[in-house]
Formats: sequence, structure tokens, C-alpha cells
Amino acid sequence: MSEHFLTHDGINIKFTIIRKNVKNINLRVRPDSNVVVSAPKSVSCESIEQLVKDKASWIIKKIEHFDRKRSNNGRLEYITGEIFQYLGSSYPLKVIQVKSREEVILDGEELFLFVKDENNFKIKEKLFNQWYKAQAKLIFHRTMDKIQPPVSAAGIERPSITLRSMRTRWGSCSWKRKKITLNIELIKTPLECIEYVLLHELIHFKHHKHDTKFYSYLENLMPDWKERKKTLKTFSVNLSKL
Ligand SMILES: [Zn+2]
Repeated sequence: MSEHFLTHDGINIKFTIIRKNVKNINLRVRPDSNVVVSAPKSVSCESIEQLVKDKASWIIKKIEHFDRKRSNNGRLEYITGEIFQYLGSSYPLKVIQVKSREEVILDGEELFLFVKDENNFKIKEKLFNQWYKAQAKLIFHRTMDKIQPPVSAAGIERPSITLRSMRTRWGSCSWKRKKITLNIELIKTPLECIEYVLLHELIHFKHHKHDTKFYSYLENLMPDWKERKKTLKTFSVNLSKL
């Protein structure tokens, strides 16, 4: 493993070369914005550097993409002007100091955080987590009202919904307990994605595995599920499982 640097259009790119028993060179930008090249021992450092140079614009775009993602998802500060995601839209926050009731309110296009001490990060974080959770509960149940009736003919009953913060999954299904678990983060994605995840989990009550029966049933009920899945992917670099 060795670290290298090069400059492209005035921007420094740091990349790590990992020597492996592989046939081809593999260049990746990881979600933590680190650039990693795995390459066979036979390939010279100069050729790898040339490859990184050729791909520099793409790499920089990727790094910026991941940096933006992380600043949205990981390091929230809850300050005025910061962007928050809700149902696939971005809302700039307005923090307003109040003496009485502390709460988060989405009023049309405007997202407000009313808080007594605008420097108290813990309280602000708690208020936002509570708000997201309450919205998720409301929207997920409402979506279930729409998505479940069409599958009831196939014997799929309405399950209970549990909300959770999960690191790798958007949702999961426990057919024994007649329960589906949904990631609270899903409330940040468009309604069409929430519908897709819900339907996906519902179908698991009938077809436990991702086999051809599962997919033909899904395709039948939601012909554009692949596009919805693609959209969902753009909302998180870590979450993928269903
Ligand atoms: Zn699944």
C-alpha cells in the first residue's frame, strides 16, 4: 500500500495504490472520499498515475459528491442555511430562538427550528430526530394504506411497522412476526421510493427470497420499480439492502 499525489486543474488528488493478485486495475472513490487503486504488481506506478490523471475530472466530481453527502448526512450542525432532506426535496433551515415551545415546523417550502438556545447542539439534534421520526410514522402508515390493499388479494395482510435507524438497510421483513421494519432515513427520500420499499417488503410475505416469482410479482404491480430503486440509491452511499 502506498500513497501518491497529483494535481489536476489546481486541485490535489491523493490516492492509495494497493497491490493485489488481480488481473485489472480497479479505481474507486470510497464514500469517505478516499481514492483507492488496486492493481496487479506488473503494472508500473507511472501507468497508474496516468490512469488517475485521465480520470481526474470524474474523481473530483465523485469526491465532491461524497463530501456533500457526508456534510448532509453525517455532520449536521442545525444552523440557518443548512440543507435538510425530506421526501426527496431539499429545504434550507431557518433557526429561530424562542422563549417558549421548541419544535421543528415545515411550512410549505420553509423549514423552521424553534429553539431556546440555538447553540445547544444536543437539543437541536433531538428535536430534529423526533420530527423525522414523527413524520416517518405518519407517512409510512399512509403509504401502507395505499400499497397494501392491492396485494391483499394475494393473501398478504397488513403487517405492523417498526421504525428504526439502520446503517445498511432501508427495510426488512419478518414474516413470522407479521412485521416490517423501516429505516427512519427513508423519510428523506421521495414518496415513490418509500412506496417501492414498502411493496418490496410486503411481497416478501408471499415470496421470501429474491427469486423470479418475487420479481415478476413486483414487476406486475410496479412496472417502474427499477427506476425507483435507482433513485433510492442516490440518497445514501451506505444503505442498499432490502
Ligand atoms: Zn428483499
